[in-house]
Amino acid sequence: VCAISPKAIVSDACASYSTLDDLNRDLRPALHNITQKTDFFAYYRLNLFGKECPFWNDESSMCGNIACAVNTLDNEEDIPEIWRAEELGKLEGPKANHPTRKLQADRPKKPLQGMLGDDVGESCVVEYDDECDDRDYCVPDDEGAGSKGDYVSLVDNPERFTGYVGEGAHHVWNAIYRENCFSKASFPKSASLGKSPFPKKGAAANEFQSVMRDHERQTSNTPPSAGLEEEDECLEKRVFYRVISGMHTSISTHLCAEYLNQTTGKWGPNLQCYKDRLHKFPERVSNLYFNYALVLRAITKLGPYLKGYTFCSGDPAQDAITKASVQALTTKAGGAPPIFDETLMFVNGEGPSLKEDFRNRFRNVSRIMDCVGCDKCRLWGKLQTAGYGAALKVLFEFDNNSEDVPSLSRTELVALFNTLARISSSLESVYDFRTMVESEETEA
Ligand code: FAD
Repeated sequence: VCAISPKAIVSDACASYSTLDDLNRDLRPALHNITQKTDFFAYYRLNLFGKECPFWNDESSMCGNIACAVNTLDNEEDIPEIWRAEELGKLEGPKANHPTRKLQADRPKKPLQGMLGDDVGESCVVEYDDECDDRDYCVPDDEGAGSKGDYVSLVDNPERFTGYVGEGAHHVWNAIYRENCFSKASFPKSASLGKSPFPKKGAAANEFQSVMRDHERQTSNTPPSAGLEEEDECLEKRVFYRVISGMHTSISTHLCAEYLNQTTGKWGPNLQCYKDRLHKFPERVSNLYFNYALVLRAITKLGPYLKGYTFCSGDPAQDAITKASVQALTTKAGGAPPIFDETLMFVNGEGPSLKEDFRNRFRNVSRIMDCVGCDKCRLWGKLQTAGYGAALKVLFEFDNNSEDVPSLSRTELVALFNTLARISSSLESVYDFRTMVESEETEA
């Protein structure tokens, strides 16, 4: 029995790809039931439209998106409207609004939102405003905004190819990876940079170029870990990088696995897309497996506390099923050999002093999601950063032997389980893609 140290390369550690693939196969049915068949986990509350990009001019990002959509999809004018990038990125289905101020004022004093450990007996699909906690790794979605958001069906809006490509998307990824450069200042939280988020001249431009060179070096086709170890990067910084890179891998996997073939109009896997973005980059795939271990460990750690949690959707019969499915998942996961050891982090060297910086940088990543210029991508980007944020909070702000249970809102729980479901489906797709590549090689 051994646990993955956060430093290990998953493919080299005792928990190999195949160990995690097997575990994933075992857990997937319960995870599928939880996220696809229960109202509690299928509706997510977020502020998708009410917040401006806090880092650069929002308009330029939207312009970038529309322009890049026209540039990248050949003869876009000639294809049916529903296939156009702008259309593909839109949300489907009705949205329930956030409760009004009056409703909130009228609500009973009893806590409704189902913080872990509360005895919640009323309908809590409608959640009220969250209070921010110092230990959060994500900004609450109502920060600085007038509107508090909508409920969106995750089942009706699957994460898949949207056509969001080009400069707009690259700006966002670059800003996210910039947060990984711990030695450098965080991305300035100001819109004063004007139309382009990236400085063109002077010291800021030089710094930006150096960030991008670092990132290119880290993501080039080198053996896993090589670049990072040469730099003697500390464990915590390395984990930060792996989390965002693994999230990027998962998004790329989904868009390649559910790709729109514009010739046939059919959705399906695009092997070339996988080869170009992931197969050539084993480190990216390794980071996906790393994230699976990390998020599953957080859910396993929460398992005992979820036994007393009321999953309230307003339908007691469904709530009982939700609870049983969650218990089935956490019990199975808890019975598996340990796959991630979080106790190694923030303990040695400069580790303890990095925790706050780590948390703040991750919060910044969650803010960057408001700069994504495609509704569906922004929905899943926000959900997944909130899910990783909840996982990090459970792992690093919650002492294994303490009575101090972290307060998790319903929104955080929904994000956490759906993020695991995303990674889980990515693992399955990567496995299928690998098999396709192998059979191509055998035939050749
Ligand atoms: P990108 O994926 O944009 O990558 C940019 C650069 O980052 C690469 O050139 C490489 O140097 C580096 N890189 C790539 N992958 C990794 C990795 N795993 N680890 C480390 N470095 C890496 N598109 C959709 O079709 N559907 C979606 O749901 C969707 N969601 C998105 C959510 C967010 C938050 C963002 C920012 C974008 C999303 N996109 C989505 C767009 C998509 O991620 C790509 O940006 C787009 O398809 C263009 O891809 P690309 O090949 O140019 O490289």
